[in-house]
Amino acid sequence: DGSLTHVVGLVRDVPDYPAPGILFKDLTPVFADARAFTTVATELAACVGEADVVAGIEARGFLLGAAVALVAGVGVIPVRKAGKLPRVAGSRTYDLEYGTATLELPAETVSPGARVFVVDDVLATGGTAAATVALLAVAGAEVIGFGALLELTALSGRQALAPLPVHALLHA
Ligand code: IMP
Repeated sequence: DGSLTHVVGLVRDVPDYPAPGILFKDLTPVFADARAFTTVATELAACVGEADVVAGIEARGFLLGAAVALVAGVGVIPVRKAGKLPRVAGSRTYDLEYGTATLELPAETVSPGARVFVVDDVLATGGTAAATVALLAVAGAEVIGFGALLELTALSGRQALAPLPVHALLHA
């Protein structure tokens, strides 16, 4: 029905950001557009399956994850960058191209055995998503899937997350 075509038309290419030679995909116009936002939330909500809760990764994963959770009829957990939470259930540091990043899971949000669907805006190398999956696993959750609006296929994030089912609405 052309809904995803409408979404594709709103993705903005930003050359040489955040570093020379990198083509950044800016999804801000997708979130700002009522029809596109509804489309992406609805399509990803259909992938949530039997999950008890959605986990969204800071910061654009919060926007998308909250919308997906609302449509799917489940709650949402924020997986945060280090230093923002009063109490944490766990912390995970992972490698970036230059340096490292740390993600934290809020204390007392996932019950042992909870089935979790993880959401972020973009899947690139998969490092961010893999760190999130590891955090949730250590906390006793069962991660049953990952969903993103856009997958940068050449960076092999899907392989980094295997055998976890990965759902992406757009590919670049
Ligand atoms: P990864 O850890 O390499 O998979 O990178 C994914 C993370 O970086 C996600 O949290 C994204 O928000 C962000 N990211 C990487 N590339 C892009 C991009 O081209 N546009 C928007 N966000 C990106």
